[in-house]
Amino acid sequence: MIQDQIKQVIRDVSDFPKPGIVFKDITPILKNPALCNEITKALAQQLASLNIDVIAGIESRGFLFGLALAQQLGVPFVPIRKVGKLPYKTIQQSYNLEYGSATLEVHEDAFEPGQKVLIHDDLLATGGTVVAASALVQKLDAQVVGYSFLINLDFLNGKERLKTFSEHIFSLADY
Ligand code: 5GP
Repeated sequence: MIQDQIKQVIRDVSDFPKPGIVFKDITPILKNPALCNEITKALAQQLASLNIDVIAGIESRGFLFGLALAQQLGVPFVPIRKVGKLPYKTIQQSYNLEYGSATLEVHEDAFEPGQKVLIHDDLLATGGTVVAASALVQKLDAQVVGYSFLINLDFLNGKERLKTFSEHIFSLADY
């Protein structure tokens, strides 16, 4: 099963990025092209029934499989980036972190009004990041039709938080 394969390959790194955090390192997955292929296909399969116009991936690990997924589905890919990285005119959304805040940006012409957008990231924790990404989609009058993650840290209840935006929340490996 894909969930077992992912869990076998992922590396837990203690005390990163700060003491007390156990970080799920997905870089070993990237060294396995056959597994990357399987993951892309499994992500695409989960989304088959949704009529997706665009995949939006979140910097930076959301770019890795976000673009692969968009290619697999034959739809455009849009990067949602941390503030100050995108070259053209942008709109912004700030959100709270455990300590302080962060800001995401997207190009102002990234989505057409009414487009159905699937938001992809590598990992769902509290959901704060993808909630901010959802606000960017909505500011451009597009529609969030679902979320897709490689990993879901279920004990943090991110999926509950996202249900107010869309009931379609997919992940391949849950902890
Ligand atoms: P949230 O906003 O849901 O609390 O945190 C999710 C965001 O933080 C994602 O963009 C994800 O890439 C990053 N993140 C948080 N913890 C981890 C982790 O253990 N491993 C990885 N790969 N990313 C993490």
